[in-house]
Amino acid sequence: MTAFTTALDLTSDVADLTAALIDINSVSGNERELADAVEAALRSLPHLQVTRDGDAIVARTELGRDERVILAGHLDTVPLPLTAGSRGTVPSSWDGEVLYGRGTTDMKGGVAVQLALAARLADPARDVTYVFYDHEEVEASLSGLGRLVVNYPELLQGDFAILLEPTDGTVEGGCNGTSRFEVTTVGKAAHSARAWMGQNAIHAAAEILTRLRDHEPATVAVDGLEYRESLNAVKIHGGTAGNVIPDRTVVEINYRFAPDKTPDDAEAYVRNLLDGFSVIRTDAAAGARPGLNHPAAADFVAAVGAEPKPKYGWTDVARFSALGIPAVNFGPGDALLAHTDNEHVPAEAIRECFRALDRWLSA
Ligand SMILES: [Zn+2]
Repeated sequence: MTAFTTALDLTSDVADLTAALIDINSVSGNERELADAVEAALRSLPHLQVTRDGDAIVARTELGRDERVILAGHLDTVPLPLTAGSRGTVPSSWDGEVLYGRGTTDMKGGVAVQLALAARLADPARDVTYVFYDHEEVEASLSGLGRLVVNYPELLQGDFAILLEPTDGTVEGGCNGTSRFEVTTVGKAAHSARAWMGQNAIHAAAEILTRLRDHEPATVAVDGLEYRESLNAVKIHGGTAGNVIPDRTVVEINYRFAPDKTPDDAEAYVRNLLDGFSVIRTDAAAGARPGLNHPAAADFVAAVGAEPKPKYGWTDVARFSALGIPAVNFGPGDALLAHTDNEHVPAEAIRECFRALDRWLSA
């Protein structure tokens, strides 16, 4: 237990604020200290209504504007690097104008931008809801955002949501859905010395692999963005011993599908491709349409001046999409550096993201 809360200066340079956030270790499950500091800083701002739920915090302007925008980011990080000498750790460190530390890109730069905007925009042109949440980097059932959706749906209402995950300053709209399947072949066990008495379930799986290998994944245009799908065997298991004809093989498949498909559409697609085999869906999460035709979204893209791109991985924009709120990713830092041992971000990238959102929300 910490006896006191670290005071965050939300009016300091946004890159320095990022460093201060990194210096409070907040690996998933250990967000309390950072959440306390964020809550205290937000409660000192009289223009915000602040609600805390576990280690998640929602802060809202209540100006009665026509439109409400949500800016969301997670407080947690993945574990610290184990390799000695790694710079993507805690505390943060500077190399010239480049900030190193765990969470620099994923995503304390984005959280610093949210906090700096929250302090600066006492009278924004659009009402703003700032959402900070815990447990993003772990299994989806623990997600602080998922918990807020259940506990405080009314606080998450809005016209448009921006997740400040790292996109290197570009706008990434929507995301592909994801689903997993188990495809099973059944044979007949026998001693391998008398193989003709059995039926080989591993050999039977060859046809599954052939169809997957020959399958051409589609690229699908949704609301003007091109989503590239992928369908792959990701695991295979079968066989019991070196002298037994295997009687069962399971091929696990991961299908990343464009956001014009529902999980049921995706399942029908896989069943059709693997017609004749036993297919069981084990997991599915819907994608999110980019929703860039919504006026608030179009206005945002124009103000930021970036060419929108599709997001292939599944992200929390899908949770907003499920609430009927179009959502995009827009944040500082290179997503490819996220979770790496030498995670870093140029200070200027954080400042530029802050300036772009400040311009748009003030106009
Ligand atoms: Zn992240």
